[in-house]
Amino acid sequence: MGPEPRPHAVYPSTFVPRVYSVPSPALLVRQQPSGFLRDFDYSLNPYSGCAFQCGGCYVPDLLFGRAERLGGWGSYVEARVRSVEALQKAAPRLSGATFFMSPVTDVYQPAERRFRLTRALLEALREIPYEWGLISTRSPSILEDLDLLRAHHPRLEVGISVPSDLEEVRRRMDPKNPPVAARLETCRRLREAGVPVRLHVAPLQPHSDDFPRLAGEVADWVWIDFPCHLRVARPAYAAQGMAEYLAREWVERQADRWRAVLGADRVGFGQADFSRRSLAPL
Ligand code: SF4
Repeated sequence: MGPEPRPHAVYPSTFVPRVYSVPSPALLVRQQPSGFLRDFDYSLNPYSGCAFQCGGCYVPDLLFGRAERLGGWGSYVEARVRSVEALQKAAPRLSGATFFMSPVTDVYQPAERRFRLTRALLEALREIPYEWGLISTRSPSILEDLDLLRAHHPRLEVGISVPSDLEEVRRRMDPKNPPVAARLETCRRLREAGVPVRLHVAPLQPHSDDFPRLAGEVADWVWIDFPCHLRVARPAYAAQGMAEYLAREWVERQADRWRAVLGADRVGFGQADFSRRSLAPL
């Protein structure tokens, strides 16, 4: 056994994508009634591009070839350095609104340590009477903002993405992701600090029989889903000999198993449950 992963370590430590500063105003995006995020009013996107380069990531599928033109998904990160300025201009629209941060990037990927845009947004959001927000990440670096997350209580919830508890699966599908143990520990520490936290087990990948119990120990509840863009997921899963895990029946069967372990009220499933809150609205 190697040493325990350090929760504050920067992952991946050996890979640095090209990082650009851009003044893009596309920080705040209104959600469409037909979209996956239709139960949120806005998405907040301080970065574009993502160093974690997950195997089945759907984002490049939404970019109409832009990721390829910039060198391929995972090879670049754009930091929207005027994010706070854009947020302050948009403050009246966010008042009383809900948001998700972020559907197109990981807001705690390694570039955040250099630019601190997510942290600056959290600071600025304290002055805005938004209704509720959800932040999703795969990075233990979110713990560096624990103080701020707590200051937003109970309007802000965190989702930690862990599609499998098996390191072998992570290494094959998402080798640039932080280790599984570090992400579970991050979840535990957020919960212990009183931050509402769910585990995003999406897309659900092959996992150990013990994963539902482990998840229940560290998170308030878990959210499970299928891979949402099969055009991307099919080749990625097939390349790892995992095509059988894309079957709807397999995912639904597993979700039933998770409900049997955790109770139905602690397992959300699919689009309708993504906007569910750990805590009842004020
Ligand atoms: S962390 Fe999210 S945005 Fe980044 S590569 Fe993975 S799925 Fe895509």
